[in-house]
This record gives sequence, C-alpha cells and structure tokens, in this order.
Amino acid sequence: MTSTDLRPAAPAPAPGTAPAADPLADARAQLREAIDILGYDESVYAMLAVPRREVTVSVPLRRDDGRIEVLTGHRVQHNLSRGPAKGGLRFSPDVNLDEVRALAMWMTWKCALLDVPYGGAKGGVAVDPRGYSTAELERITRRYTSEISPVIGPESDIPAPDIGTDEQTMAWLMDTYSVSHGRTVLGVVTGKPIALGGSLGRAGATSRGVVHTAVAALREHGLEPSQATAAVQGFGKVGRGAAEFLHELGVTVTAVSDQYGAVHAAAGLDIEALGRHVDSTGTVVGFSGGEELPAADDLLYLDVTVLVPAAIESVIHEGNAHDVRARFVVEGANGPTTAAADAILARRGTVVVPDILANAGGVVVSYFEWVQANQAYWWSVQEVEERLAERMRLAWERVSSHARRHDLTLRAAATSLAVKTVAEAHRSRGLYP
Ligand code: GLU
Repeated sequence: MTSTDLRPAAPAPAPGTAPAADPLADARAQLREAIDILGYDESVYAMLAVPRREVTVSVPLRRDDGRIEVLTGHRVQHNLSRGPAKGGLRFSPDVNLDEVRALAMWMTWKCALLDVPYGGAKGGVAVDPRGYSTAELERITRRYTSEISPVIGPESDIPAPDIGTDEQTMAWLMDTYSVSHGRTVLGVVTGKPIALGGSLGRAGATSRGVVHTAVAALREHGLEPSQATAAVQGFGKVGRGAAEFLHELGVTVTAVSDQYGAVHAAAGLDIEALGRHVDSTGTVVGFSGGEELPAADDLLYLDVTVLVPAAIESVIHEGNAHDVRARFVVEGANGPTTAAADAILARRGTVVVPDILANAGGVVVSYFEWVQANQAYWWSVQEVEERLAERMRLAWERVSSHARRHDLTLRAAATSLAVKTVAEAHRSRGLYP
C-alpha cells in the first residue's frame, strides 16, 4: 500500500488463518470510523489518513568484520497541528514504511487523547538488533540520527525508545544530534538514561499506565484486582513491568510469553522469580515455576480475566479473535488487534482497552521528561508517578464516559475524542496558504 492508497482493510482470509498484517489499513479503518462518528467530511479523513512528512534514509554500516551493509530507515511525522512530532524509534526486521506510518498515526491520537502537546511520529530501521554487536548498533544509531537530523529537534520531532531500542540508543541519538549542533540538547529525545537528563519513572511508565487502565476497567465492571487473572504476551519493556505491577496489585498472573515460548501456572506465576530466570537466560522458556504451553500464541486463548498483548501489531486477527476468551483485552502493544478482530471482540462483548489509551503512559512520562529537561529541573519519582496516575485516570474517565454516553466501543470513543482534538487544532490554525 502507498500513502495515497486510501483503500480499507484487505478481504477476509479463510477462518483460522492469520491474514497478512496491515497496520496502516487498520489505522485508517479506525480513523474512518471516528470521522463517521464525528460527522466530519471526507477532506478531514483525506488530510489525516496520510502523514504530513516522511523521510526514508539509507544507513550504511561498517560491520565489525569490515563488510559494508546498507540498512533502510524511516522517520514519519503524521501530524504537527498541536506541537512537535513525538514517537518512538524501532529497530526490527519487520520495519517498513507503512508500519511506521500506522504507528505515527497512533502516536498522534495518543498525544491528543492524553492532552500531551505533541503531534505524532515514528521511526524505524529495518534491522534485527540481536544480530549486531553493541559497537555496530551504536554506528547504526549514529548514522541514522545524522541522516534524519534535519527533521528532528526538541521543538520539531522528539524520538523515544520502542521495540529493539533502549536508553543507550537514546543516549547515542542525543549525543550525535548534540555534537552536530555544538551544544548539549537534552530535549531532542526522551527515554534517556537518568544520568543524562532522563526522568525518574520513565522506564516503567508504559507498564504502569497499562495497569492503571486495566484496574480502572476491572473496577468499572465491579471486579477488584484480587478477583482477576491475567495473561501477558511479551516480557520486554512493556510486558514485564505490566506483569510485575499486576502481580503487586494482587492480580493472579497465570501466563507470560515471549518470542520463544509461553509459561503457564494456573495458580499464578512467581513474577519476581520469572524475572530472575529471564535475566539469566534471556527467555521465559525453561522457567521451573510453570509449564510451557505448546505454542507461544496459545497464551492468547487462555481463560483469564485480562489479556495484555504487549508485543507487536496484529496478533489478534480475524482468524483467531473468536478464540480469545479473556473478558478484557488491555493493549500494551501498539495495534495488537486488527480492525476485523476488533469487530469480532465487540460482538462477543470483550472489553478492549485500546492502545492509544492503555499504553499512553510512556509518552506521558516522555512529555514529563522533556518538560524537566527544558527547564533543567527534575522531579521526584513520586511526583512523576502521581502525575502519570492522574493523567491516566482522567483519560480513562473521559473515554469510558464518552463510550457509555454514545454507545461506542472504548476504541471508537478514544479515537473520535482524539481526532476531534486534532481536527479542532487544525481548523483553528486554518489551512495555509
Ligand atoms: N514508543 C512508545 C510508544 O509507542 C513511546 C513513545 C514516546 O515516548 O515518544 O508510545
């Protein structure tokens, strides 16, 4: 699909099979639904269905053995109406321009919904970081940064970590940008190490936000955390913290998976012990405190109260949505549920807390980090966590009451509220020229 191709989602595949992932078609289907709900005309859809600005760069890399390899990277700025563009940088073999476009659009809605004064962006390099040394990853990051440096900056576009990148990546990015500008520019990136102007509470922020919204959803349906069970797909930056914080609040976490497999214990996993196992082996597989499920994806079909997909896009699709038995799906990942699967889950009465709300804690604390760096004044971890909890609570209440009042799914409510905010900003600025 290209940026000018505004077709809806692809035709249905045979039941039981996974359709080819097409996050951009899903993102556009969600936008289409929001535009229809809001009664906006086609021109608003046409403007928001395509990114404002895209940069594709080649990233030549000298491997440690002297060979030259040329990688491809992208930075997409979906919308700039409400402030600088903001969004993560992903290193993954699956990165492609359409995926980055979808992820950038979701960032626009996320920032608008949480009242964070940014537009949306996303970046990525098509590379599997596991196949590269630390020195090679540093060279990839620095060259990619240098190639996109005309479009990034603390007042124009602010990257952050995402799949396959971390605070070290952000430190290299900030250093490369700063060196080329002849001064230290802390605000060019968020998710930095604490020693380099990072914010306390940023590392766990996405997971905390996921858990705040999961608990709010449970309570709205009359359930306390101690009455709930959960399965978490992914044990990385988002899933691990989500499993830990759910466990701390008394939720019985019965299963966790990563890309290598899934472990399950009906009475609940010891998440701390599992964390130690992962620290020493690099995977949840082989953990003695649970049984391995035959396939990692089997976790998606467990009979739990809450399912937290916290890995990649399109894992719940029309071929498997009927098999999801959880009463609540709380989206730690961006775009884990396709538009077709969303319709199936809605018909079955599954409560889906959408990504742009559930996983927004990361960008909220990124915003706090940027504010702190720009003022050169840092807050305590309590301040950060309280302000995050308050923003998540307000956003949850706004979305859930809007959904109830207008009989919408939480996703349709969240997306339409966000689209309205962006469209109003755009309208009051006016179209130039
Ligand atoms: N990559 C994260 C996300 O998808 C964080 C983005 C940010 O903090 O800018 O929300």
